[in-house]
Amino acid sequence: MSHDVTLLKGDGIGPEIARATRECIDATGVDIKWHIEEAGIDVYEKEGDPLPARVIDTIKKTKVAIKAPITTPVGTGFRSVNVRLRKELDLYACLRPCKSYEGVNSRYDDIDIVIVRENTEDLYAGIEFEEGNDETMKLIRFIEGMKGARIPMDSGISIKPISIARSERIVRFAFDYAIENGRERVTAVHKANIMKYSDGLFLKVARNVAEDYPDIEFEDRIVDNMCMQLVQKPQLYDVVVLPNLYGDIISDLCAGLVGGLGVAPGGNIGEDMAVFEATHGSAPKYAGKNVANPTALILSGVMMLRHIGETDAARILESAVADVIREGRHVTFDLKNDRNDHTAVGTKEMADAIIRKMS
Ligand code: NAD
Repeated sequence: MSHDVTLLKGDGIGPEIARATRECIDATGVDIKWHIEEAGIDVYEKEGDPLPARVIDTIKKTKVAIKAPITTPVGTGFRSVNVRLRKELDLYACLRPCKSYEGVNSRYDDIDIVIVRENTEDLYAGIEFEEGNDETMKLIRFIEGMKGARIPMDSGISIKPISIARSERIVRFAFDYAIENGRERVTAVHKANIMKYSDGLFLKVARNVAEDYPDIEFEDRIVDNMCMQLVQKPQLYDVVVLPNLYGDIISDLCAGLVGGLGVAPGGNIGEDMAVFEATHGSAPKYAGKNVANPTALILSGVMMLRHIGETDAARILESAVADVIREGRHVTFDLKNDRNDHTAVGTKEMADAIIRKMS
């Protein structure tokens, strides 16, 4: 069976790791018809929009995409293409597996945590009031009048909406993922003791949803305690579901626990569409040098293969990546014990070694 998949080449190191990823996926033998698209600063300069409608349309048609990183220039009024994609396609779940691979330098060698982050609300909803604006003053007076709470007039304000419907869909996503992937436990993370009506609502919904999944163990943790537990005994955690902000922070913390951004894949998933991408950015200083580590995007490709039902190919590609990393010969500089090790290979050579493992 042939699959249609959009490939967004990205910029910075994007095109190099996108090519490496495509070649590795093609080498699994899965029949993929690639729809190549571009977005980002170059497209913005040519067309006035870094994410033209045709790119969105292609993803809507293929339903599945792999996206290499895209630079968000600072101070241009150019909104992040990454955030726009998640919003315009309603990719409400950010899935980040954080798994130890032998050969990657890290403090632990036995972690297998999956982070499920809500992607659409919380403090990231973009409802912000700038310090000093008339509307901000009006809001402060309104809140004071209604709640009797004193807010300094020189405050900036960000709103944190958390809804029943969106909490329910992300927690259900986490439980369904746990069932489909043979996981045993879901942990919901929050600060419900302080933010009773936002995080408290998230927790209440999570507890209700958990009752529909009696075969999966459920527990909750307050976010500060969770940070300490993850550092001290990360092996205790399995699937972890969080509202947007905590999810953003904890997924990077977990990426750090398993060896950093170079090996951290991800997927943004909606009702009927999904965009898979590495956690890291476009690393502009390495652009065009054939030195960037392609692992995180290739592992995002493994997630994509599982998503489209090609589970055998996913397993074969993941174990080829794991073999190459464990052997430690054909790996990029960041996977060497000494980053100046002159035996490090380039992006292309690491991908070629992965492909050889599958032949
Ligand atoms: P970054 O992830 O690009 O880089 C952080 C550090 O990790 C740098 O030292 C970088 O060189 C290194 N690094 C990252 N990926 C690597 C790889 N594959 N191999 C080897 N080293 C690697 O983060 P940043 O510097 O904060 O961001 C750069 C640009 O990327 C920004 O414009 C940012 O907005 C964008 N960004 C995009 C995405 C995305 O497309 N999803 C995500 C994060 C950042």
